[in-house]
Amino acid sequence: MLGPLGWLALFFALPLGVAGQDLDRARATIGTLTSPGFHGRGYVNGGDRVAAQFLEGQFREMGLRAFDSAYVQPFPLDINTFPGRVSLKIDKKKLVPGQDYLVNPVSQKGRGRGRIVFLDTLIFTQEAARQRFLRNDFRRNVVVYESRHYANLTELSPEYLNKMHEARALIELHPAKLTMSLSPAQVSHPAFEMVKKDLPAGAKKAAYRVDAKLVKGYPSQNVVGYVPGKKYPDEFVVISAHYDHLGRMGKDTYFPGANDNASGTTLMLELARHYARPENQPDYSVAFMAFGAEEVGLIGSRYYTEHPLFPLDQIKFMINLDLLGTGEEGMMVVNGTRLPGAFDRLTQINTGKNYLPKLQKRDNAPNSDHYFFTRRGVKAVFIYLMGGPKFYHDVYDRAETLPLTKFKESFGLIRDFVAAGEWE
Ligand SMILES: [Zn+2]
Repeated sequence: MLGPLGWLALFFALPLGVAGQDLDRARATIGTLTSPGFHGRGYVNGGDRVAAQFLEGQFREMGLRAFDSAYVQPFPLDINTFPGRVSLKIDKKKLVPGQDYLVNPVSQKGRGRGRIVFLDTLIFTQEAARQRFLRNDFRRNVVVYESRHYANLTELSPEYLNKMHEARALIELHPAKLTMSLSPAQVSHPAFEMVKKDLPAGAKKAAYRVDAKLVKGYPSQNVVGYVPGKKYPDEFVVISAHYDHLGRMGKDTYFPGANDNASGTTLMLELARHYARPENQPDYSVAFMAFGAEEVGLIGSRYYTEHPLFPLDQIKFMINLDLLGTGEEGMMVVNGTRLPGAFDRLTQINTGKNYLPKLQKRDNAPNSDHYFFTRRGVKAVFIYLMGGPKFYHDVYDRAETLPLTKFKESFGLIRDFVAAGEWE
């Protein structure tokens, strides 16, 4: 129960950005986007489509306008998927997918068993070991190698790499954590990833199964809407966020992607809801772009820049939101170094309103959906929050782990920055 002092606190909290009950709504939205029915917003069971339809519904309910009469912009992509069963057993121990191992994004389908062989690292220093390595027949083996040695093997000669890929299956070992990604292509055999300490040095046998399916021309989509500006309807501020994530890895495992990027998608929705209210109609038009297939290599946003729904030079400024679920260590502004005026303005607002403990800038990088816009001369920044839980591209990036420490403050900062109207 909330006592009288609590009510008072709630009352005074209202004018600051998102009100108390709106943070609850944000949590509910993140809960929806990360729920099992959204399948990790990837390409098994049409998870991307479920998410896009949800966003479309939200845009419609808010009364956002659509370009070309539709919110959805379709685009194709190639994607390797894991729709069926995945399993990995080392000697007598059945491993837990997502927790003990990942299917390598480039894995071929297949099932079988084989004797485990560890890559002989003497090949990097000894000619005799190299000769021995090339005389091996790995076709009945599951070859285990450390991720750092893959590049060494490539440098040595394609011969050695090809030899290793003759294996029945491969297991790549990582020093610390498992980090999932996606691939548009497959290798010729099943492939797995594990943390080094989880594979006993004396492991003898592996049994495995991967139901992989490479889909060419998978139909995915961006979802785009806007609020027309009062004074400058032909000049746009863009607020974007990728809504896709890594999808499913087999029937029983999915990647919820709460911080990456249910958090940014939800902040974008909260901003859209704000500007869609008649009393908050902005001077400039504000477009909301929910991009698909970011995790496959910025596919949706790249497609958008090649097929813009209004001229790109009408975009006065773009703010891309990705990883907005934390904030105890402040905010990073990617590309802030190249847009010093905009960064100074953000800093000024932040200091004045005491929103975030610190604002930092770094150089541009192809690490989120702002990138292909900047390549075409659009002034764009990518904003992410720092600190808090470090779950990233794994099964632990769940809604319950998100503190949303500076979610309201990020909302306030962006709203005030858009209102300032000076982005040079
Ligand atoms: Zn990501």
